[in-house]
Parts: sequence; structure tokens; C-alpha cells
Amino acid sequence: MPLYDPKSSRADEFINHQEILETLAYADAHKSDEALIDSILKKAKPFRDQNGFHCAGLSHREASVLLACDIPQKTQEMFALAEEIKQAFYGNRIVLFAPLYLSNYCVNGCLYCPYHAKNKSIPRKKLTQDEIRAEVTALQDMGHKRLAIEAGEDPANNPIEYILESVKTIYSIKHKNGAIRRVNVNIAATTVENYAKLKAAEIGTYILFQETYNRQGYETLHPTGPKHDYAWHTEAMDRAMEGGIDDVGLGVLFGLESYRYEFAGLLMHAEHLEAAKGVGPHTISVPRVKKADDIDPDVFDNSIPDEIFEKIIACIRIAVPYTGMIISTRESERVRAAALRLGISQISGGSRTSVGGYTQKERPHDTEQFDVSDQRSLDEVVQWLMEKDHIPSFCTACYRAGRTGDRFMSLCKSGQILNCCHPNALMTLAEYLVDYASPSCKALGFKMIEDELEKIPNGKVKEIARGHIEAIKNSDARDFRF
Ligand code: SF4
Ligand code: SF4
Repeated sequence: MPLYDPKSSRADEFINHQEILETLAYADAHKSDEALIDSILKKAKPFRDQNGFHCAGLSHREASVLLACDIPQKTQEMFALAEEIKQAFYGNRIVLFAPLYLSNYCVNGCLYCPYHAKNKSIPRKKLTQDEIRAEVTALQDMGHKRLAIEAGEDPANNPIEYILESVKTIYSIKHKNGAIRRVNVNIAATTVENYAKLKAAEIGTYILFQETYNRQGYETLHPTGPKHDYAWHTEAMDRAMEGGIDDVGLGVLFGLESYRYEFAGLLMHAEHLEAAKGVGPHTISVPRVKKADDIDPDVFDNSIPDEIFEKIIACIRIAVPYTGMIISTRESERVRAAALRLGISQISGGSRTSVGGYTQKERPHDTEQFDVSDQRSLDEVVQWLMEKDHIPSFCTACYRAGRTGDRFMSLCKSGQILNCCHPNALMTLAEYLVDYASPSCKALGFKMIEDELEKIPNGKVKEIARGHIEAIKNSDARDFRF
């Protein structure tokens, strides 16, 4: 039987089934132990010294106790703590991005995804470079600066060369004042050599969802194709880091297996990257299974209600305070509003989850990967964020300034990153308002910018940010950053 070892490079050792079972038993045994729960909450509380905010984070066992606890008062304390951590490290800015589906050709047999190879009812489509140019132009015209590209696994139709060429095309498009400044990549597990090529193409984060950490469930849900290989998939982030990519994004598809198992596995994966590679995940995404062509989410009997989903988000925020958290348009406006308070730092907006969807007038459904719950336009999402006192941010500064991996984490761990995030959010919001916003959004946004500029503690930073915002308003000067 494999033994638990967070430093190991073997999937069965760093995501150890026995350790997860023991963690869940420990959590069950202690879920009503108020003294223990209080001590865990106390350990996770942010504190401030002369260098800024710090936070201890939690182990997968400690966090699993919090998740198992069903004392209503303690749940409220968890929510309050998650909010406090979010404010301390991220402030009120929310980074926006959009997914861009390049191709839905796929050789895998994932039972929860409409792109699975055996689905003959879905049209297959792969964007040409000209079609990518049109899609990216449409995305730039909406105001997006940051994309996550998605493609199925298909060595014949979507080889790594296609992905690399597409990244190059996306970065090359400069339409009016638009530009895509960060391309994150969500493609299948691949080799160290291919990860090195993606790094050389200057991608932002490499994203790969584990779907489920339960090996047995994983193998059943992925009956055919290269993705069937649990170890190959689970060890992908290690290979990505060996290939030089130091910002990686984790996630599970909640609803496939027991959420408590997934939660423990997810945190063990984060602990493994920290222990073995010296830097934890850059982001964690929290997708839930949704309806799609040939997919009925009710088939999966582990669906989680909204209250539990919110608690999962809060507990992840408390356990890994330095990791960005992402929620997509799979979730409704109501769920997203609650999630933003509890720790989410990035959301997608105005998304189309079909191949070639952004150039179509009406939202196309024929090649959609999942039903979009939040169908509002980007402008509506931006305005909504501001009405809820979040600063919509189109910032992409860090990776372009070389602040990735452990350089980024050290800034984040000392709470210093907020000194960049806040003014960068205001400057990129100003770009959005001048170039793309509706009149009502514009009015609200410039008022918010004025109020928020006053909150910048460093007088010099405040003046520089103010000067750049004036330049954005009065000229075509763009892309200022701290
Ligand atoms: S989840 Fe990814 S690998 Fe699986 S069928 Fe869908 S596109 Fe293919
Ligand atoms: S400054 Fe860095 S961490 Fe902050 S929003 Fe911009 S890219 Fe993200």
C-alpha cells in the first residue's frame, strides 16, 4: 500500500487514499469539538506586523475538521474569517477574464463532458487562426485583457503546435486600444517538453482540473483515452513546473465524487506543490457539474447544495490564503455574489463556452461545453461588481513584470501585493471605462475610482496612479502598471 508523502513525485503517495480516509475519519470524530475548532480558527486568523499581513493557513486535516463541522455559529465564524482573509490579502478588487474555446475535438471519454469522443450529436469545430483573430477582436471590443484558452485533447486536431500558434496569434492582435495581455492555458496533461514550449510562448497560468482525486472514481469517469491514466494526469503539475511554468491552477469538478474527499485531495495537492516544488498553486477553481449536450448532472449523485458550496469556498480561502480563487459563469449571479464575499478573487464575465461563440450575435448552444448560468454581458458584470463595492480589475501586471512563482508568493505572503493590485485595478478599470463602458457604468466607475484613489496609503503611489488615470482619460496612452 503506498504511504503518504507530500514530497513524493508519485500521485498515489502525495494524494494518498488512506491519508484521505483517515482525514475524513478524524474530521468526523472532531467535528463537534468546539475547543479544537476555535483553535483552528485562531491559527488561521490573519495578523499584521511591520512588514504587512501574514496568515498561517491550515493543513488538509485541520481544514477538513472545519468543513465537517455543522455547528451554525461556527460556520458563521468561518464565513467571517474567510471574508477577513480575503480583505487582508486581496482587498476588494476582482480580476475579470473570459474563456476562449479553440477546439472541441477530443479523444477522451470523460462521462461528464459533452466533448467526449463518443458524443456524435455535438458538431465538432476547431478555430482557424483567422477565426481566432475574429474571436479575439470581439473579446477585445468587450474590454477583456485576460483569456483562458480551452481545447480538447486530440493529438491530430489540436497538437501542441496548434496551441502555440494560437497563443502567438492572440498576443499579436492589437485592435483599437485593445490587447490580450495574459493568456492562461487549459489543455490536457502533457510532457515536460511541451510545458517548456508553453512557457517559451509566455503563457500565464497553466490550468488543469483534476476533476476528482478519487483514483477509483477517476478511472470510472474516464473510461477511455489518455486521460484515463490517473497518475499521468495527477502528476501533470509537477511536469509543468519542471518545464518552467511556475504558475499553475488546480481545481476539481464538484459533484462527481464526495465533496469532502475532493476537498482534502485538493488541499493535499496544494501542500504537495509547496513541499516538492517550493511554491503552491497560483489559483484554485471551483466548478460544479452542469447540464450540457448529452450530459445530465443528475446522473452524478454527489451534487452539492449552495450552502455547502459556499462553505467549501470559505474553507479553501481559510486554508490557502495566498492562492487566487476562481469562479466561472457556470454559477448564477446569486451564488457568485456570495462567493465573492467568501474568497473568490477572479471571475469570468460575458463568457461564451462554445467554439467560435464570441463572433455570433446570439449565444450559440450547439458546441457549448456547459450551460452558462450567468448570461450577463461583461458591462453588466462590471457594473454589478461596482454596485457591490468590488473593484473590477483587468490587471495582468504580475507575470508581465516577472512576478511569478515564488517571487509572486513572497509578495503575496507578506501582504505587499495589495500595494500593486489596488492601483492596478483602478488604472485598468479606467481603461475599460474610457474604451468600452456604457454611460451608466462609466459614471459609477469614475466615482469609484475617485473614492478608491483616496484610500491608497502611499502618497507617491497615489499621485502616480492619478496621473496615469488622467493620461488614460485624455489620450490613447494605455497599459500602465505597478
Ligand atoms: S473534459 Fe476535456 S478531456 Fe474530457 S472530454 Fe471534455 S474536453 Fe475532452
Ligand atoms: S498586481 Fe498581480 S496579483 Fe494583483 S491583480 Fe495584478 S496580476 Fe493579479
